[in-house]
Amino acid sequence: MFIGHYALGLAAKRVTPGVSLGVLFASAQFADILWPFLLAAGLEHVQIEPGNTAFTPLNFVSYPYSHSLALLIVWGLALGWIFGGGQRRNLAIIAALVVSHWGLDFIMHRPDMPLYPGGPKYGLGVWNSIALTVAIELPMYIAGVWIYLRATRARDGIGRWGLLLLIAMLLLIYVGDALSSEAPPSVGALTAVAATGGVLFTAWSWWADRHRDVVTGR
Ligand SMILES: [Zn+2]
Repeated sequence: MFIGHYALGLAAKRVTPGVSLGVLFASAQFADILWPFLLAAGLEHVQIEPGNTAFTPLNFVSYPYSHSLALLIVWGLALGWIFGGGQRRNLAIIAALVVSHWGLDFIMHRPDMPLYPGGPKYGLGVWNSIALTVAIELPMYIAGVWIYLRATRARDGIGRWGLLLLIAMLLLIYVGDALSSEAPPSVGALTAVAATGGVLFTAWSWWADRHRDVVTGR
């Protein structure tokens, strides 16, 4: 799953208005932000295998630290504690976003999502159908964008256009993924792109969100 994770981050702004969208995005996507660094360190493994599922040419051989349910609970509590500003609701929402990554990937992936390192793996394999994948994820994204746009208001051009460009960019990448069956040239290239994307979209969303005000009383 890709934009579905961002959808939850956008929607969460409604219930944690004091938390930056950058933190909410990084939480929902934490598993995928951590993943390329663990690949580079040789602690997790992926293979490029065109046709692995209809949607992705990747075989997620092993990712116990970034993508197991047990570790995501640990990461979620840690992130919530660090970025929750001492508020229990923020901590709970941030932790829930981090853990939600497992639930959403579980729906999409083949049975490759571990419960805990070395533990059994699960997955419903919706990625076997591009149509079904898009039918689930696109409405989620539209709803998330709508909720975020109603919960905040642009203070200036960066808040308006910076945000809209980010939303469009994520959508374009997603549509490109859905339409093309092209595999990345190498695991190294995949790792570099994934690491860059994770950092870029966290920083971009934090920056755009800073230029928007929370709308109260709606
Ligand atoms: Zn993931």
